[in-house]
Amino acid sequence: MSEQLICTGCGVKIQTENPEELGYAPVSSLEKEAIVCQRCFRLKNYNEIQDVSLTDDDFLKILNELGNRDALIVKIVDIFDFNGSWLPGIQRFAGKNPVLLIGNKADLVPKSVKQRKLIDWMKKESRELGLNPIDVFLVSAARGYNIREAAEAIDEYRNGKDVYIVGCTNVGKSTFINRIIKEVTGEGDVITTSHFPGTTLDMIEIPLEDGKAIVDTPGIINHHQMAHYVDKRDLKYITPKKEIKPKVYQLNEQQTLFFGGLARFDYVAGGRRSFSCYVPNEISIHRTKLENADELYKNHAGEMLTPPRREQMEEFPELVRHEFTIKEAKTDVVFSGLGWVTVNDVGAKIAAYVPKGVHVMLRRSLI
Ligand code: GDP
Repeated sequence: MSEQLICTGCGVKIQTENPEELGYAPVSSLEKEAIVCQRCFRLKNYNEIQDVSLTDDDFLKILNELGNRDALIVKIVDIFDFNGSWLPGIQRFAGKNPVLLIGNKADLVPKSVKQRKLIDWMKKESRELGLNPIDVFLVSAARGYNIREAAEAIDEYRNGKDVYIVGCTNVGKSTFINRIIKEVTGEGDVITTSHFPGTTLDMIEIPLEDGKAIVDTPGIINHHQMAHYVDKRDLKYITPKKEIKPKVYQLNEQQTLFFGGLARFDYVAGGRRSFSCYVPNEISIHRTKLENADELYKNHAGEMLTPPRREQMEEFPELVRHEFTIKEAKTDVVFSGLGWVTVNDVGAKIAAYVPKGVHVMLRRSLI
């Protein structure tokens, strides 16, 4: 091949020799106008992913590059999994470049929540996580909500420079960029999207009128997210498509809630209280007595408590217990990548269980 061909889906270099390796495309497909690698082809046509991932080292290389460029950095997070989808250290990597923060998947947040409040919350949290964004937007890439406003802001803040879009896998980065392209050109999808984590592999540039570009960077896999412990067929359960309907439970102490078989919430002590659960609507919540909970999980994980699936149970990590006493009114107990439980008043003693490797944390209530 004289000229290096690039996949229009993920940006990887096209090769025709080895079907098992990255960037493979059959020679016959090279005649087409939009060349895609086999991986993107399968993904688009069969919604099926071939396993390839970017190592943490490669991702670091990309981040290290950012500081050397003169650009606007747009960092995308999943508002439903804010902390789990956060890229630590981005301010340092960005160097002198400004960072615009975009919270995606706003469509999942209950309608009762005021946008303004959520944006203020994002600003506060960002500062605590060491980022001082030049501005903060809330969008839904899937629904097209606020995309025009975000696109206009990007155009203003980039000030004639390139734009680098960064985010961990599954935050909706590709969907967002596709939207922006539609907004600008009216064309259809040109970048791979799917609900499988880790589908955008290499840098891809979308040219802008002034000779600059929007650059899509590959996503990093945040290993502590729930998505890595769920069977690919079950990812739809934890990748919600609709507004999350909070489910409120009045619990007496010594009661337990199971979220499918993925997580568990024990209300250990503190008198009768209400707890609001924000998890995808498709995850069933099962209430039981704390004293029966271990036994219930042992006997029913993989069937009544699902996902995970029965056949997965052997390799599914054990649930690890994290105990907390709630010190501030309106605290979220966050199960990384699954959702959270809001505890309204102080003093409750609770325990949160997640598969070993997945993070649990407390934060000031988002809602
Ligand atoms: P990437 O890995 O960051 O490029 O993420 P993708 O664009 O492939 O999206 C990951 C998953 O999130 C897919 O299942 C998308 O359908 C979904 N998604 C993307 N944007 C939104 C959104 O605004 N709302 C909702 N509910 N889902 C979204």
